[in-house]
Amino acid sequence: MIRFKCILEGLCCRLSPITIQSFEAIILLEIAKKLGIRISIKPSYKVYERINRVYLVLSYILELDKDSRSCPFLKNNKCLIHNIYKPLICRSFPYAPKQVKYLYNEELKFVTAHVEYGLSTKCPVIKRDKKYIDKLMKYTPATLYQYMPNEYHSAIEAENKRLLILKLLSKLWRRGLIDIVPAEKAYKYDAPHVNTYIFLQKYYPNLPYILGINKVLEKIKDIRRIWGQ
Ligand code: SF4
Repeated sequence: MIRFKCILEGLCCRLSPITIQSFEAIILLEIAKKLGIRISIKPSYKVYERINRVYLVLSYILELDKDSRSCPFLKNNKCLIHNIYKPLICRSFPYAPKQVKYLYNEELKFVTAHVEYGLSTKCPVIKRDKKYIDKLMKYTPATLYQYMPNEYHSAIEAENKRLLILKLLSKLWRRGLIDIVPAEKAYKYDAPHVNTYIFLQKYYPNLPYILGINKVLEKIKDIRRIWGQ
């Protein structure tokens, strides 16, 4: 049986800007601040919240460094944050989201997402193993788990966390505490942007535990000791 093994070329860290979830934006900003690394994170997908009149940002784009044209956390072909917090999309790569669709039900007041994953053919390992993968996938896509269990598991973790955040938002919506519409229906171009994770923490103070990121946040506090700074 063939198993996926990253050849650590750092190619995926140079391919394109990196899409991260709202809680990951906070984690990466904190790490970057502690390590003195300059990063630029821009809002990507957002919803408009009519009661507080804000855009709630669900995902962000971590931009590539303008000079090196690579992720700002990539140094000498190594991910500096590998042992602190590696974004879920990096952990699942080359199994990555191809299309993310957010689905709203205004009557029942819930929002959810449907995400289609695919294998990046830009990855040289995937190119090399293509025949084997095609044969494997002929039976059922779930067998991909045999080829890349860690990456597959990270993709599941990413989607569980995405759905959990949407579930918490939907709960507030049903309780009448928020009222959301897709951003494209809002026409409020000057409304402030708020990170959804930060927004939710007001209502769910134990959110780091709910999302299972409490240990990562603890680790970040200790970053200087870990790095011997
Ligand atoms: S966070 Fe690490 S693995 Fe992800 S793109 Fe940046 S350097 Fe690469």
